[in-house]
Amino acid sequence: MSATRRRNFSFEFFPPKTPQGREKLRATWHELAKIKPQFFSVTFGAGGSTREGTLETVLEIRAAGHEAAPHISCVASTRADVAAQLEQYRSHGIRHIVALRGDLPSGLAAAGEFRYASELVAFIRESTGDWFTIDVACYPEYHPQTRSAADEIRNFKKKIDAGANTAITQYFYSADAYFRFVDDCRAAGISVPIVAGIMPIANFSQLARFSDVCGAEIPRWIRFKLESFRDDSASIRAFGLDVVTRLCEQLLAGGAPGLHFYTLNQAPLPAEICRRLGA
Ligand code: FAD
Repeated sequence: MSATRRRNFSFEFFPPKTPQGREKLRATWHELAKIKPQFFSVTFGAGGSTREGTLETVLEIRAAGHEAAPHISCVASTRADVAAQLEQYRSHGIRHIVALRGDLPSGLAAAGEFRYASELVAFIRESTGDWFTIDVACYPEYHPQTRSAADEIRNFKKKIDAGANTAITQYFYSADAYFRFVDDCRAAGISVPIVAGIMPIANFSQLARFSDVCGAEIPRWIRFKLESFRDDSASIRAFGLDVVTRLCEQLLAGGAPGLHFYTLNQAPLPAEICRRLGA
């Protein structure tokens, strides 16, 4: 990998719910800001997080002079809800958002006016023109609701055709899955940058839980090693850092335009991976 390659890193947070969580996150983004990321992003309504917390967190980070993009999701929302949210973002001078469908808590039926993120992207463009740079999600190992690989690429393309500028992937641990997905997207006429989503490994049971829900595969050999460390968090951390740094090196060497870290509001692992990558 070229030592001079420009590295585009971004870091994702969720809005904290408590004063202690806010304090902790402040320390986290202060630490990660030293890496000079392209931007930070803050999830919206994910895992039951408050929606007000998204804007509040974004504004705090921006007030310190850093780029920060709020996420916006549309599941169970009306057009009026989304328009109001966009207007709020716009009134604060925010020009970069991450647009998602979102997920309903299990058992709840959708009652909103949007079915898919492509409809959200189309609505954002219709109502706000080119004010926002829009990032969307994509899935190298396929979304849990994917019916076929070809459908998934077609559905992803609808978001791009509706006006999305960049895509960020769900996390994965197979560089091959990413490279194959990018090739398939290019063959289907999708030309936007596809930034790789990276989940550092800190805790096996939490990772297994997330992966079951979002459809990301933990390769058997990684699962096996992590399970065998049991409660030995130092070994999990050391092994996870090696595996994820190697993955990032492969991705950057193979042309990934950037890495987007799912930080879970913790700085040490993403900071160490970036340090090992030469940031
Ligand atoms: P979509 O693009 O709408 O796709 C969802 C599923 O529907 C896919 O299987 C797709 O193939 C299918 N589909 C799409 N269009 C059609 C169509 N026209 N006909 C039939 N099927 C179709 N969730 C949150 O709640 N808040 C967040 O802040 C958040 N941030 C995220 C950030 C990233 C980078 C990623 C990767 C995910 C994030 N998520 C977040 C999770 C995301 O909301 C879920 O993965 C959700 O299940 C799908 O969202 P999407 O925007 O990819 O949906």
